Amino acid sequence: MYLKVRKRSDQDQWCFSLKHQIEGMKENHSLDRAMLERSLELARYSVSKGSSPIGCVIVDASGKTISEGRNKSGEPWSKTPRRIGDSGFAHAEMDAFYRIKKLEKPEGYTLYSSLEPCLMCGGAMGMIGVGRTVWACDDPWGGSGRLIAWNQHPAFVDIQVVAHPFHDLEREAAELFAPEARRVYPAQGWAAWQERYPEICAAFDKPIGDINTLRNAQKKVRRAARKKT
Ligand SMILES: [Zn+2]
Repeated sequence: MYLKVRKRSDQDQWCFSLKHQIEGMKENHSLDRAMLERSLELARYSVSKGSSPIGCVIVDASGKTISEGRNKSGEPWSKTPRRIGDSGFAHAEMDAFYRIKKLEKPEGYTLYSSLEPCLMCGGAMGMIGVGRTVWACDDPWGGSGRLIAWNQHPAFVDIQVVAHPFHDLEREAAELFAPEARRVYPAQGWAAWQERYPEICAAFDKPIGDINTLRNAQKKVRRAARKKT
């Protein structure tokens, strides 16, 4: 009798815990989507300001946004404290890190980025102790996932990595960054992009002209994607 009760109790507990986990996953899933959409919004804003299309959001364990950042490499250095600009390290994630006033339980933070973080930003994430990262699309040339081997490096062993969980957002993010990859990466870097996202890169696989040529190609890709959906 004791065993039976115990068994039922364990089972109930297990069901309860599983239900909780599923609810948690659903919540996480919708938060992940909303935050990646926000990072894409910030990435688009960066382009309108003359910088690279990368946006980033950091939330705490309760899902509250504690910082946002975007690439500012094409903008002047801001005089406002905790703002970066006009440099090769004015990356979206660094922008977001600089804006955090005080680190509180960073192991509960999730860093969302429209693009797989680079070695510098991934390194900073490890040093700070961010617990989780989610990115919309891979960066097969500049991304640090491949370089750091997240699950092997001791500084990164506890970081949970979620790479491109939503196909539509992955596509959107790759379309947004592909012209930049074509423009700034060396031939090898562009080749890595062509291999990773062949269909998207095909639209940009022409001699680099002016920025309008790239933007027109980008519009073409978007029109084609809209027709498909
Ligand atoms: Zn970076």
